[in-house]
Amino acid sequence: MFEEEIRFIRSLYGQGRVPLHEPSFFGNERKYLDECVDSTYVSSVGPFVDRFEHDVAAYTGAARAVVCVNGTSALHMALLLSGVERGDEVVTQPLTFVATCNAISYTGAVPVFVDVDADTLGLSPVKLRTWLESNADLSGGECRNRTTGRRIKACVPMHTFGHPAKVDEIASVCREFGLALVEDAAEAMGSLFHGRHAGTFAGVGALSFNGNKTITTGGGGMLLFQDADLGAYAKHVTTQARVPRGWAFVHDQVGYNYRMPNINAALGCAQLECLDAILADKRETAEAYKAFFAGRRGFSFVHEPDGARSNYWLNAVLLESREMRDAFLGETNGCGVSTRPAWELMNRLPMFGECQRGDIANALDIEARLVNLPSGVRRKEMSCVS
Ligand SMILES: *Cc1c(COP(=O)(O)O)cnc(C)c1O
Repeated sequence: MFEEEIRFIRSLYGQGRVPLHEPSFFGNERKYLDECVDSTYVSSVGPFVDRFEHDVAAYTGAARAVVCVNGTSALHMALLLSGVERGDEVVTQPLTFVATCNAISYTGAVPVFVDVDADTLGLSPVKLRTWLESNADLSGGECRNRTTGRRIKACVPMHTFGHPAKVDEIASVCREFGLALVEDAAEAMGSLFHGRHAGTFAGVGALSFNGNKTITTGGGGMLLFQDADLGAYAKHVTTQARVPRGWAFVHDQVGYNYRMPNINAALGCAQLECLDAILADKRETAEAYKAFFAGRRGFSFVHEPDGARSNYWLNAVLLESREMRDAFLGETNGCGVSTRPAWELMNRLPMFGECQRGDIANALDIEARLVNLPSGVRRKEMSCVS
């Protein structure tokens, strides 16, 4: 039934097994890893850690960037630094990877689900306002849930598949209701919204460098700050809150061992040098999909939102129905072409099933019909500047 689609994907990715997204190493990865091993500084201190933080801050325009062992720990830290406490509520979208809600849970807070926009797949500022207006009371600068009585402390939009959410409008609703804004930009390395890098609109943003993301450190994450002092504090808390006192071990609060090892940061430095080349390759693939699916009945390609430049981390199409989606998933995966459905919505998972939610019509519709397509880098060679 889908021979033509499969033939087209194979024309992009070849005849063998086609993965959804593989890492690609074209630059100084081996060189930096060798340097790192030769230096013996493979663990949680070393020059690549500082350099990777510096380079990511420069690339994204953040005032400070702080490495973490993975994106989930970066999100956990971002929520703690935003003042989220046990018993609070945090608004997020039901269409996201489970790590967003796990990080909220680690703080002892509970998620509340507000719908996504159909054009961005990210949290809807209009539905956020609507939900807050009918469910929350503002008093003394604090936002409280009328039903549960709990404080609503923060809001976490997620830039789905690298497509930026409407963060400017979300930020203004958050300001109005006294909510801290935390951006889950795990999927959005290299994505811009009105020319500004995803993850730099909020007080704190989090990136992921897991192996399936646009660039990888093996495992890893990064916190992005607009406030350099808060960034410096994050460095302290993510490194066991150790106070510099010569050789003595002195710690001034409960800290976390969340720092990325130097060997992972070495990989990150090399990957970052290739990011623009990787983004150009992924954009070409997205354009090819877009042109192909424009002529296919029953398929609608998910293109970057107006005013945004997506990294096209994972390309996606919406099919006509859940039945057609299931048939497409079956046929493609059956012949070695990896495609994936959207995540099960968070409100359907057992641990978040009781969480409060607004109208989530768009998320339900997208979940039923969306399929992610193979999206890895296609070039076999590229030159990365150093
Ligand atoms: C990948 C991802 C994370 C977490 O990243 P890890 O580095 O795997 O911990 C968080 N949120 C979203 C939306 C992600 O896609």
